[in-house]
Amino acid sequence: MEEKREKAPHVLVVPYPAQGHINPLLQFAKRLASKGIKVTLANTIYLTKSMKAKTGLVAIETISDGFDEGGFESSESTETYHERLKEFGTKTLTELIEKQNSSTLPFSCVIYDAFLPWALEVAKRLNLPAGAFLTQLCAINVIYYHVYLGKISVIPQESGTIYVPGVMEFEVSQLPSFVSAPGSYPAFRELLLNQFSNLEKADWVFVNTFDRLEGEVVSWMEERFPVKTIGPTVPSMYLDKKVNGDNAYGLNLWNPNTGTCMKWLDARPNASVVYVSFGSIAALGPEQMEELAWGLNGSNNYFLWVVRGAEENKLPNNFVEETREKGLVVNWCPQLEVLAHKAVGCFLTHCGWNSTLEALSLGVPLVAMPQWTDQPTNAKYVEEVWRVGVRAKLDQKGIVRREEVELSIKEVMEGENREEFKRNASKWRELAIEAVDEGGSSDKKIAEFVAILNKEDK
Ligand code: UDP
Repeated sequence: MEEKREKAPHVLVVPYPAQGHINPLLQFAKRLASKGIKVTLANTIYLTKSMKAKTGLVAIETISDGFDEGGFESSESTETYHERLKEFGTKTLTELIEKQNSSTLPFSCVIYDAFLPWALEVAKRLNLPAGAFLTQLCAINVIYYHVYLGKISVIPQESGTIYVPGVMEFEVSQLPSFVSAPGSYPAFRELLLNQFSNLEKADWVFVNTFDRLEGEVVSWMEERFPVKTIGPTVPSMYLDKKVNGDNAYGLNLWNPNTGTCMKWLDARPNASVVYVSFGSIAALGPEQMEELAWGLNGSNNYFLWVVRGAEENKLPNNFVEETREKGLVVNWCPQLEVLAHKAVGCFLTHCGWNSTLEALSLGVPLVAMPQWTDQPTNAKYVEEVWRVGVRAKLDQKGIVRREEVELSIKEVMEGENREEFKRNASKWRELAIEAVDEGGSSDKKIAEFVAILNKEDK
């Protein structure tokens, strides 16, 4: 007898294979699952082998990026990686959907990372509705959209300001680096701009932000695309606490030194520690690394610094030993647990969007030290729009000197604006909780989407 097909929606979520993309898409998947939707996340074969997984109700399946043994690091260039990701991804995503189609619970919808516009083509070819997921601040999406349309561009080395319709005026240095320095990292620039190459075909456009954070920009985008703001995609335990068991991101590239970090933080006074991290990709130059190291040592505060294994050789000789009284250097940490710890007084960050949103969600003031991509723009918002911290200034060589590191930390930890930064950070935390809590702006949009899925499957 033929097995009966279940009449239930089943969503396939496809993230771009990097920590900062898997985290938000997986969290969104968990929110859908908590509302009764069956969700499967397609991770690459390589990352599935190398990541520790604890994804709760979300099932994991694999697709190939063409580098099953070594992932991105083993490709000779970013261009090659993206070409093969598209080629192998298209083929294996098609196979995965077709395989599931002949099961009792076929996929009824695809949610793909907008970095992978080819996934939308696969979904449409297989007659599935598809939602794009934009992983960055909505303002950044609008900036790239204008650049994609050819409506704004900058001449290399240009300074001054540019008005971005729907957003605001920016100094060139505050634009995403792939816009302010269009010649740098062309393969990444293409990835960012191509998000818009077929976006008009997407049935929904999910954005990892929330309305109160950048309401006018969201409205501008809503007039052009079927936008649903569903963020922040921070585990529920740190916000509304309504999703059972959702207390961490479930897929980690590296093993966090949890015990060491927590024990060390537990032994520090309230708000005495500067937490320092540059995320999973950014690599500081040796000179910048040295300036930062001595700046942290020169500041009045304790510091907990994440230096990934591949970056450790840039630390000054004997730095870890010499600063043992003040600092702890680890290769990876449970960032949310750290940010939520009462000993942490501020976060010195590269302003990756997840890190920024996590800090806002946990009410932690920031010292911004953006490196590339969307980070300079996020830093502008941190300093000028949300007013939750300062951006450390670069010297003429583009380096943040040790004195500036010390000064910026001092401003946020004990300066005259400290109380304002803390107040604003707490306000953003409250608004973030409100957005994802029952009936909040993001929760409503997720619920609307779930209702559509349930209806379509009837
Ligand atoms: N992260 C972490 N442990 C660390 C450093 C970072 O778990 O020691 C997580 C962090 O919580 C965030 C992600 O890694 O969710 C980094 O994403 P982000 O967008 O901030 O930066 P990217 O790595 O994409 O540059």
